[in-house]
Amino acid sequence: MRHNRSPAVNLRPSRTHHKWLLEDRAAENIAYGLGTNRDTSAWFKNIVHRGLYLKAVGGQHEPCGACKGAQDNWLHLWRCPVFEPIWTSLVDLVNELLPKIQGRNQAEFSPEFVYLGVLTNRHALPRSLALLHMITWKFIIHDLYNGGQSEHYVMDASKTNRRALRRYITRIHATLREFQLRILRDTPKGRTVDIKGTNTRLSPVARISEGGRDIQWEGNMGRYLQAAGAIDPKPNEEGTITSGGDG
Ligand SMILES: [Zn+2]
Repeated sequence: MRHNRSPAVNLRPSRTHHKWLLEDRAAENIAYGLGTNRDTSAWFKNIVHRGLYLKAVGGQHEPCGACKGAQDNWLHLWRCPVFEPIWTSLVDLVNELLPKIQGRNQAEFSPEFVYLGVLTNRHALPRSLALLHMITWKFIIHDLYNGGQSEHYVMDASKTNRRALRRYITRIHATLREFQLRILRDTPKGRTVDIKGTNTRLSPVARISEGGRDIQWEGNMGRYLQAAGAIDPKPNEEGTITSGGDG
């Protein structure tokens, strides 16, 4: 039922968004998250700061660049049928990864979640999932822009999602590389490299294996990446899906 929730929330873009940002500290995920500015800036500029996207396609009176079936505005974009499968599967994934709070799922298919990554308890997504949320927007915005520019552009949400997930995996692997470099640099100096801090940032989606060999994806996350065709199945002895190692 939660997928059909009516958009009762007043999405009067800018001001409301910024209020949420301040209250929920979603902005911290931009400042201290795992990604680079290249991962996060599309979401920040186009969704948080709206403006650009709507201006680029001629304002709110144009049909939606993805489904062509609705007016292109904030009441529509979060539940545009072209991208809805991406968001509902992300909602389901987040609910598999984060425990219920007082019997309530933490993620809902709602404008707050889709636009800002805000959970039902008004908190922002954990950093690792906030990065996935922002990268998803980056690729959706890319599609919307290209769809609006070219009539031959074929929009395929499963491809959009796969591109976003592959980019996400690349970012998580970059975290592994950083960690491996720290081991190379610090171990000869007799310093031990603490894996805990890095794994806290990667939680709950993944962890770096002992010794920094590879990325071990959380079970649901690994299956999600596999189902989307974003990762080749490479389970280890315990059945954990790993990636990013040299082997
Ligand atoms: Zn649409």
